[in-house]
Formats: sequence, C-alpha cells, structure tokens
Amino acid sequence: MIHIQNLDFRYPRADFRLAIDELKIETGEKVAFVGPSGSGKTTLLNLISGISVAAEGSVNVAGKEVSQLADAARRDFRVANTGFVFQRFELIEYLNVRDNILFPFLINPSVELTPKVRGRMAELAESVGIETLLKRYPNQLSQGEQQRVAICRALILWPPLILADEPTGNLDPGNKDMILDLMLSEFDAQDRTFVVVTHDRAVAEKCERTIDFSNFHRRIQPDEAIS
Ligand code: ADP
Ligand code: MG
Repeated sequence: MIHIQNLDFRYPRADFRLAIDELKIETGEKVAFVGPSGSGKTTLLNLISGISVAAEGSVNVAGKEVSQLADAARRDFRVANTGFVFQRFELIEYLNVRDNILFPFLINPSVELTPKVRGRMAELAESVGIETLLKRYPNQLSQGEQQRVAICRALILWPPLILADEPTGNLDPGNKDMILDLMLSEFDAQDRTFVVVTHDRAVAEKCERTIDFSNFHRRIQPDEAIS
C-alpha cells in the first residue's frame, strides 16, 4: 500500500530533515508511528497523503507516485484513498457537525451523497456518541467531541487507507477505547491499511507493527544547509 524509498524531505528555510531509506507498509497492515515530538510523524503523514510533496525520493501509495501527480490529481487521489484524522482536527467552522462529517462528499464531485451515506453518517455519529450534536458547530464542542467528529469524517468515505494523527490525544479513557475499537473494527473486515501516530502505548499495542521515528530525522548540519 505504501512504499517509500530514498526520501529526503526538508521544509523551506528550516533545519529539520526527514530522511528514510526505505519503508514499506503492506495493504491491510495496522501500523503505529511513534517517536519524540518534532521527529517528523505528522510530516510523513502529510507526504503519504499528498498534502506535502518531497523533492527527493519516492512516495508510492496504492501504486501511484504521489509526488508525480499534479495538484488537482493529487487532491482527488487524497480524497478518494485516504481518511485523515488531523492532529488539530481541521473541522470547518461554518459547517455543523453533520456537514463536517459529510464534508468529503460535499467537496468531491466523483462521489454521490446518497441516503445510504446519510445513514452511515448517522451510524458513525452514534457509534462515537455524538448523535445528539449533529446540529452544533465546532466552536460549540469540547476538544474530545471535535476529535470524534474528525474521526467520523475520516471514516465516512470508506477509505482504503486511514491516517490518524494522535486520534485519541484528547479523549478520556472510556472514549479512547471505544473509538480505537471502532477504528480498528472498521479495518479488520477489509483489506484496509491503518496508520496511527500515537504517544499512547495502549494504542501502539493494538497495532501489528510499531515504527520508531527516532532514527529518521536529524538537524541539518551547517555545511549542508541549503540557502
Ligand atoms: P511530529 O509530528 O513528529 O511531532 P512534525 O512532523 O510536526 O513532528 O514536525 C517535524 C519538524 O518539522 C519540527 O521540528 C517542526 O517544527 C518542523 N515543521 C513542521 N511543519 C513545518 C513547516 N510548515 N515549516 C517549517 N518547519 C516545520
Ligand atoms: Mg505531529
């Protein structure tokens, strides 16, 4: 599902560098990304989903070379293939909870908003306990409630790949277990790939493999700095 080779990524005018010789994640695998804050976990999720593009190396997702796609094609690819739970949720402030969950359908002309999809929206909302909040707006929700909306939005399109950036960081223990089980059960039945960034050992233990970012990043030395 994901094959990264000789990746070398830097942000402009910053001294952070993410360098990965090779990383393979098979279809259907459940993988946890762990490592210190600032080690590039979110950066790699952005590269995998095509939000960012690496100048050097190969990021192949579902058989497509992400960095070779033009902007519009990359966005379509991302919407169709990945469900992203952002670390900062990125909910749309002017849409209510229901429309935030349905957002992938509202912006993507290639998928149709059918009664079945609306039914699935209601089911997902119920399964994470936010079914009474559908008419509220993000600024009327707690952090944990916003996080659950973000999780529903990531799952609504049935993506083959889910990328979840610290998805349980704002949840109390009860909600955390429930949501983790929901996300994993969504993926158990199918050949879906699940990548989760987490500081939580309990989350990592539910995955099949843990990838530690401690070795992937380093500060650029002055003599190799790019001006
Ligand atoms: P993690 O998710 O592992 O905490 P990130 O991938 O968010 O780490 O960030 C890795 C490093 O890149 C950090 O040092 C961060 O400050 C830096 N960084 C993140 N985004 C940007 C950006 N847009 N421009 C410059 N530097 C950035
Ligand atoms: Mg991060």
